[in-house]
Amino acid sequence: MRRLNESVVNGSQAAHPANPKDLPSIDRVLRGPDVAALVAEHGHTLVAGEARATIDGLRERARQGGLDASEIAPEAVARAVQARVAERLASRMRLVINLTGTVIHTNLGRALLADAALQHLLTVMAGPNNLEYDLASGGRGDRDSVVEELLCTLTGAEAATVVNNNAAAVLLTIAALARGQEVIVSRGELVEIGGAFRMPDVMASAGATLVEVGTTNRTHPRDYEQAITERTGLLMKVHTSNYAVQGFTSAVDEGEIARIAHARGLPMATDLGSGALIDMAAWGLPHEPTPMEKIQAGCDVVSFSGDKLLGGPQAGLIVGTRAAIGRIRKFPMKRALRMSKLPLAALEATLMLYLRPERLAQDLPTLRLLTRPADAIREQAEGLLAAVQAAVAPRFTVAVADMQGQIGSGSLPVERLPSAGLAIAPAQKKGAGRALDELAAALRALPRPVIGRVADDRLLLDLRCLEDSALFATQLPALRQALG
Ligand SMILES: *Cc1c(COP(=O)(O)O)cnc(C)c1O
Repeated sequence: MRRLNESVVNGSQAAHPANPKDLPSIDRVLRGPDVAALVAEHGHTLVAGEARATIDGLRERARQGGLDASEIAPEAVARAVQARVAERLASRMRLVINLTGTVIHTNLGRALLADAALQHLLTVMAGPNNLEYDLASGGRGDRDSVVEELLCTLTGAEAATVVNNNAAAVLLTIAALARGQEVIVSRGELVEIGGAFRMPDVMASAGATLVEVGTTNRTHPRDYEQAITERTGLLMKVHTSNYAVQGFTSAVDEGEIARIAHARGLPMATDLGSGALIDMAAWGLPHEPTPMEKIQAGCDVVSFSGDKLLGGPQAGLIVGTRAAIGRIRKFPMKRALRMSKLPLAALEATLMLYLRPERLAQDLPTLRLLTRPADAIREQAEGLLAAVQAAVAPRFTVAVADMQGQIGSGSLPVERLPSAGLAIAPAQKKGAGRALDELAAALRALPRPVIGRVADDRLLLDLRCLEDSALFATQLPALRQALG
């Protein structure tokens, strides 16, 4: 029984409470052999800081009577310091296993980089490079030239430039072509991409005035024509990437809007969002609009993301006519939104893969994952079933199940990717919700965290993005222990 005047803030009372006066000094802790070895490896600053924090923590617990005498033994204190140093040096950004069924998952880093991109990144970051240096003339170069020719070859555009991401590309395009003027956009296309990227707000940030035309479901050519005044600077079409308006709908295509714009001497821009550099239908996937189609249709500017269907690093790609791209490139804001040399190197290597389309489904992870046949994924699930069942028994039962995955990142939102995986259900109805939460947490706490999704009272592990079963299988003993 505790005496009434004892206050317990942090845990229970120790059986053999340590006296705060018996705590070792920081100096003594640092001189101990294990901690001295840490100092030799990491230096005094980090280790002394963590040693001080360790002692402070122990003192606080000792004051409250919750510290056992055994915890201030030199080895115990050294272990505590080691643990703190290890935690301090543990990277916050970690590899995870994506079993959500969403291939391009924004929260999990979007597109996976191809090996070629990773290698190129390491190679050209290892020393000085010709980022803005023209090796032929020995004079200053332009970083755009690293990818401009490739982008023009792949899209049929006259010119190209790149910025930090597609949000930046849209902002810069509007600012460069229509600052202080009006931009005409259909009401059906005033999208919010998430993360506070809303078309009306982007327009305001770019210093342009949004002029909405048409209605949510129907916009006609005459809507654009009637809205053009001497204040108009740009006509714009936004790809409704993350939703679909179905039913009684009518939209004006890029070719038509471009004709209307050009007849009045105005430019026309389109934000494609994802934008695939290849016809996805050729790989049995739903067709996604391509920049080539939009350039052919007469758009002056087409912008799209580097890390969505393109399968590269975060980037905003802007292709179009020499005149429009020239204005965009010269606009001062371009300097603030420019791409870093790291993603630029990865982008160059990724675009290079598109020069060999026959090999693309092997070389580009995004396409490789998107084109994995459901049969093969189901077979893989069958191969893992027994081991997973053994790891989660007896609290859960596991079954192979057909699943519906997604491309992700707002690409083709209504399309589903037929897939397969493991569905894990609590063995007992009582407390099922809590059991599922616990299972999901245990999976996230694995050395390489596994991210699944909960649906219909089951935890679903869609295996589309697990190319190597062993990556998951080797962690099952740890999962079994965690659930134990
Ligand atoms: C994703 C998307 C963007 C933003 O692209 P980021 O590369 O993520 O900045 C802009 N517009 C549309 C239509 C999109 O789908």
